[in-house]
Amino acid sequence: MLHNDQLDQWDRDCFFHPSTHLAEFARGNLPQRVVTGGSGCHIEDRDGNRLLDAFAGLYCVNVGYGRPEIAEAIADQARELAYYHSYVGHGTEASITLAKMILDRAPDHMSKVYFGLSGSDANETNIKLIWYYNNILGRPQKKKIISRWRGYHGSGLMTGSLTGLELFHNKFDLPLAQVVHTEAPYYFRRSDRSQSEADFVAHCVAELEALIAREGADTIAAFIGEPVLGTGGIVPPPAGYWPAIQAVLERHDILLIADEVVTGFGRLGTMFGSDHYGLRPDLITIAKGLTSAYAPLSGSIVSDKMWQVLERGTDENGPIGHGWTYSAHPIGAAAGVANLTLIDQLGLVENAATVGSYLKDEMRKALGDHPNVGDVRGEGMLCAVEFVADRDDHRLFDASDKIGPQIAANLLEQDSVIARAMPQGDILGFAPPFCLTQDEADRVVSATHRAVSAVL
Ligand code: PLP
Repeated sequence: MLHNDQLDQWDRDCFFHPSTHLAEFARGNLPQRVVTGGSGCHIEDRDGNRLLDAFAGLYCVNVGYGRPEIAEAIADQARELAYYHSYVGHGTEASITLAKMILDRAPDHMSKVYFGLSGSDANETNIKLIWYYNNILGRPQKKKIISRWRGYHGSGLMTGSLTGLELFHNKFDLPLAQVVHTEAPYYFRRSDRSQSEADFVAHCVAELEALIAREGADTIAAFIGEPVLGTGGIVPPPAGYWPAIQAVLERHDILLIADEVVTGFGRLGTMFGSDHYGLRPDLITIAKGLTSAYAPLSGSIVSDKMWQVLERGTDENGPIGHGWTYSAHPIGAAAGVANLTLIDQLGLVENAATVGSYLKDEMRKALGDHPNVGDVRGEGMLCAVEFVADRDDHRLFDASDKIGPQIAANLLEQDSVIARAMPQGDILGFAPPFCLTQDEADRVVSATHRAVSAVL
């Protein structure tokens, strides 16, 4: 066992942490937390702290920590066959079974699953498949992708471009030219406060129509969106948004990618966000909840309509030139099979719906009247509290006040509860594991109430 000081030194000297203020870390102003274990909704660190993780890691440990069923499935697979590739027709029992289990749960018109490792690479795959599809259909100019401001779709070159958050563009020369952004369905932050929800949906639709007219429908291949905006602030869309957007896309022959990296496999209290909002996507992106993060695995679920064209493309052009060494990695696939089985056995999607809605209701009761709480919102096991300097005009706090991060830090220090200060705006996000109990939800709410009162 290494001495703590030695580990801290190596951490500072050797480890490049993602999404981190590097200079502050080097100056010792950020916590160095070495996580050693976890069970249910809690993690433990080397200093003996036990923390209630109300964000499930990065909203991914959906079944909770320390599930022996998944650990054993991984160990069995590693002993039997840790790796073989899935190129040119190879597979394993785990990868083939998992593909079948995913399609059994996905909307009926979906046809095949392409496996990757992360949500980012799955979205890169989606864009390449869409470009290939339009080339096979003889429309090589139809390539641009529409994404929403505040969307999050990954950190690659293309997926970082699709992401509509400044932090992920700054100094990286993104977005790339093939990406165009449109209005986020963020009713609370609408610029015209006199708009009703229905007016605001009409406004989002008009913005989309105007963008398509400006760019030319014959240049636009697809629209990508998360059923509920996640990293951009945990924002469920206003009623009627998705049917209205989908009608526009269909009229202009623009494909729809439902990025279900967060919402897939139960987070909204339904198996997919597409079920929740009645979407008919051409591609669905899955990752996080597919294995509850017990092993890295992602996927692109391809619709039958697209599949027909892809198949034809290979008759005309030979094998599809796209693959990762670790596509359908057997260990990830074994984790996925065990994870989806556990979700069914324990009724975790139903628990996400009931306890998630309890969490949101209690959070509203506790904080809804606070003078600096502008909005308490959520869907399924997703909840957010948005802070404002002024409740009447929804004025933001000064960014330098760092209200969201201060409240998250207080919550952690005083009550050992982990929530996430979302990267843009003063928004505190909650996305607990689906096994959260009502008692744990009560603890999250009372701790949040105390932290908000301490800071504001
Ligand atoms: N899409 C969505 C909606 C996400 O929330 C994320 C990650 O948070 C991604 C894609 C990227 O996934 P990954 O971090 O596994 O690359």
